Amino acid sequence: MKRRRPGTESCGQGWTRRGRGHLRRGPGYAVLAALLVAAAGSGCAAETGGSAPADPVRVAAARAGQPGGPPAAGAAGSVAAQAEKARRAQAARAVAAKKWGLAGTPLAPPAPPAVKPHLTTRKGFEVEGGDASLPPVFTTVPTDKKIVFLTMDDGDDKDPELLKMMSELNIPYSAFLSDYLVRDDYAYFKEAQVRGVVLGNHTLNHRYLPGLSHDEQTREICDQQDIIEQQYGERPRLFRPPYGNYNGDTLRIAKSCGITAVPLWAAEAFPDRMEWREEDQDLHPGDIILTHFRGKKDWKGSMPDMIRNVMKVITDKGYAVARLEDYV
Ligand SMILES: [Zn+2]
Repeated sequence: MKRRRPGTESCGQGWTRRGRGHLRRGPGYAVLAALLVAAAGSGCAAETGGSAPADPVRVAAARAGQPGGPPAAGAAGSVAAQAEKARRAQAARAVAAKKWGLAGTPLAPPAPPAVKPHLTTRKGFEVEGGDASLPPVFTTVPTDKKIVFLTMDDGDDKDPELLKMMSELNIPYSAFLSDYLVRDDYAYFKEAQVRGVVLGNHTLNHRYLPGLSHDEQTREICDQQDIIEQQYGERPRLFRPPYGNYNGDTLRIAKSCGITAVPLWAAEAFPDRMEWREEDQDLHPGDIILTHFRGKKDWKGSMPDMIRNVMKVITDKGYAVARLEDYV
């Protein structure tokens, strides 16, 4: 039985660009409005590191956390206080952006939605015999906001600078971990988790799942669920199959051990370039961006180099990075 491979990946393999038109929503979006409503909404990673008190990033971040001026009276006052808090958070992000050599200051995401969007499997990504009871497989989250999501896979490179950089920039991201790359240093991802990163499942050994038996897939997916829960105290809800390849067994097995959604990706980030899934080679509201925990031995730069590159693309196009788990 032959089925189309819906995605490629990620881990050293080529890309298949998909010609399907992308659903575009809504007209432009006011950056100013985003700044006003964002406040501490991103939920990512308070700085927990031990920088010196004189560190301007730390000082600015500390200021951002202070109550905004005189006590607010009533709803108007509360809105003003929120706006002031957002302004300070953004000022702290500007300082961090300069420190880490970003081309511009990352935009603040809007406040998370009160109700998460309804997710469905992307057309062309269905499995044979599948129905709406299976975890949805998607590359873009339905939203009219100019936001994208950053996801990092595998777990090979464990650069402490990345954790610090993302905390100071207050940029959310999600990790999809493969145990064979992570098990030599579970503590690194514990530190990421403490800083606000949600840890998702990317299997035990990064195998091509459609080539495995039902039992082998169960081991790859569900044993990884158990390991992440044992190591980090939280059982993942999100699962990403290696190379973006899966079949009906994959989704049924994933569901049976606690997975509720399968986020793939619309674009992939490298230190020196982007690779796009869509014909228009552009970002769209709600796009999920894939990248990897990789270092100079794997690609042309460090993790911070990759972040500088992808954030320039995201910011130049007027997008903010939001927290995937606030929407999925
Ligand atoms: Zn991978």
